[in-house]
Amino acid sequence: ATADSGAPTIFDKIINKEIPSSIVYEDEKVLAFRDINPQAPVHVLVIPKVRDGLTELAKAEARHGEILGQLLYAARIVAEKEGILDGFRVVINSGPSACQSVYHLHLHVLGGRQMNWPPG
Ligand code: 5GP
Repeated sequence: ATADSGAPTIFDKIINKEIPSSIVYEDEKVLAFRDINPQAPVHVLVIPKVRDGLTELAKAEARHGEILGQLLYAARIVAEKEGILDGFRVVINSGPSACQSVYHLHLHVLGGRQMNWPPG
């Protein structure tokens, strides 16, 4: 195992089911659950069950390619389950100036309303 630079986050407790969450999709590698503070009618977070150094996208290395692909595909599965395949947004905030608040890589899957661009 490779050293993980960051401290544990609230998402570890969600993964370990120590705190409840509304799970939308789960497989061996990926967990998707509803954001506690939704910014759209559908707002789901997609995370790797093992962080493996991915505190933020900025820390990604070539070895993370497989899990990054699995996360993106899981976002598509979530969009289908939630009935928003006709229009949805996937967001990754990386770092303080992008307003990242939880340092365990996560994709936001947003939809169910008109999404505006640019996001601001
Ligand atoms: P970030 O700002 O890091 O991109 O997004 C972190 C997201 O995690 C926020 O949208 C926030 O609402 C969500 N969040 C933080 N704590 C919890 C929690 O305990 N449960 C759930 N379901 N979402 C959380």
